Amino acid sequence: MKRRRFLYGLMSGTLLGCAPTVATESSAPQIVKKKAAAVASSYDVIVVGAGIAGLAAAQAIQAAGKRVVVLEARSRIGGRIWSWRNWGKPIELGANWIHTKTGNPLVNLAKQAGVSTTSDPEEAGDERLIDTINGTSLTGSALESHYTRAYDIIERAVARGDNLDTDVSLRTSISQVAAFKQLNATNKRLFESMLAQIVDDEYAIESEKVSLFGYEEENAAYTGSDLFVNGGYDGIATHVAKNLSIIQNTVVTKIAWGKSGVTVTAGSKSWQAKAVIVTLPLGVLKANKVTFTPALPSTYQTAINQLATGVLNRCILKFDTAFWGDTYSTFTIVGNDPHQWYQMIPLNGPYGIPALAAFNAGSQARALEAKTDAQLTAEMTAIVQKAFGTKKSSNGMVATRWGQDPYALGAYSYVPVGSPIRARTVLATPVSAQLAFAGEAYTNTDPSTVHGAYNSGRKAASAILKTLG
Ligand SMILES: Cc1cc2nc3c(=O)[nH]c(=O)nc-3n(C[C@H](O)[C@H](O)[C@H](O)COP(=O)(O)OP(=O)(O)OC[C@H]3O[C@@H](n4cnc5c(N)ncnc54)[C@H](O)[C@@H]3O)c2cc1C
Repeated sequence: MKRRRFLYGLMSGTLLGCAPTVATESSAPQIVKKKAAAVASSYDVIVVGAGIAGLAAAQAIQAAGKRVVVLEARSRIGGRIWSWRNWGKPIELGANWIHTKTGNPLVNLAKQAGVSTTSDPEEAGDERLIDTINGTSLTGSALESHYTRAYDIIERAVARGDNLDTDVSLRTSISQVAAFKQLNATNKRLFESMLAQIVDDEYAIESEKVSLFGYEEENAAYTGSDLFVNGGYDGIATHVAKNLSIIQNTVVTKIAWGKSGVTVTAGSKSWQAKAVIVTLPLGVLKANKVTFTPALPSTYQTAINQLATGVLNRCILKFDTAFWGDTYSTFTIVGNDPHQWYQMIPLNGPYGIPALAAFNAGSQARALEAKTDAQLTAEMTAIVQKAFGTKKSSNGMVATRWGQDPYALGAYSYVPVGSPIRARTVLATPVSAQLAFAGEAYTNTDPSTVHGAYNSGRKAASAILKTLG
């Protein structure tokens, strides 16, 4: 079966919750801790944010013999890499996959860090689509033919962009494709669920909002299949963070920058350096949580405004037994709303935990973030019971709310309809010799991924190092 290009890992940020388990930031390992009060005031470079981009940047700067400090708001490192261990194994609540393994530096980093990976549930070969409306299910070549048609329709929609002068949404273009118009009611329902997997997962937003011109325009740096990280993605972050000076629990609020250097402020404390690399998530920048003095040049502010942040959340229910079978494979769930609860990954395969992880993305995910854990449990349980013909209830739950996480304010970035993809290129270019951005949103090379963020951090470090001399 043709693989969905990115199937994002177990969801997101602010743990929605789950009875009886309560997840907290402190449940993640805390690797490097220093007291803010003890900090020296002068560095060559300050890195804001200890996600993978910030860690990669700081590591490269330190390796060049420069003095660097990383300031991080949370009580853990890794940012949108978040391995949650309350059920004994490191279940990923942010990134879960290493995409395109051939040539991907994360593969070596995982090996060096001793982080195990396993086969991709999307490539396990025995995927099953369960139509909860009419009680049927599809597997094997019958299912594959539906995916083939779904990809064909999307590819035709994207190709239509070559003849357009003005951007439209991917959805608008899909609606003009003859093969889409010809779908009967049942096939249309199946198509919509597959579209949610292909687009909503990858962009953290529905196809109605995605730019046709921006769709899949980003370079793919590497090739090959994906790896599912089951040995704790945070081990990679810890490995990259080795020997770095990282100050946690430090919420940066101001960045003053100029030819004479930079001052970064968090509460009543401030740090000075020759330059700063800012790896704040796009959602945090868009919400103006950090003030730049002087203000960012208008080209940069415009680019920040032009890009958007989507949401991808996961809700995981744990049961007494894996009554769905001994499998690694993804379940596609077709229900009344193709954008909600459209996909479930069994965790018994990769972790030996009898749990199902369901995905919700985009505006539907934002809407679900308003619900209580009990409401989410009830909704997902009803779907699981219908899909698998069982009366079983869960005995544990965890869910995420990346859209409400104050230090993420979204899952990852996308190019909305009408915005130019070059906005990413603008933000990938250092603002000055003293200020550069790095992170998943500020690159045209595999944005929205861990390796894209990692490479962006290294690139920003190399640019700043050149100017530091
Ligand atoms: C649910 C989900 C699933 C995903 N699945 C995958 C996947 O399977 N594979 C993949 O490759 N990618 C995946 N991604 C994307 C990937 O996680 C990100 O692209 C990548 O981790 C981003 O790294 P970053 O360093 O750019 O940002 P972040 O990891 O967000 O790092 C930024 C850091 O800045 C900190 N910060 C924020 N505000 C402040 C402040 N005011 N002061 C100081 N520090 C601050 C944050 O706490 C954070 O640590 C997923 C993301 C999500 C949310």
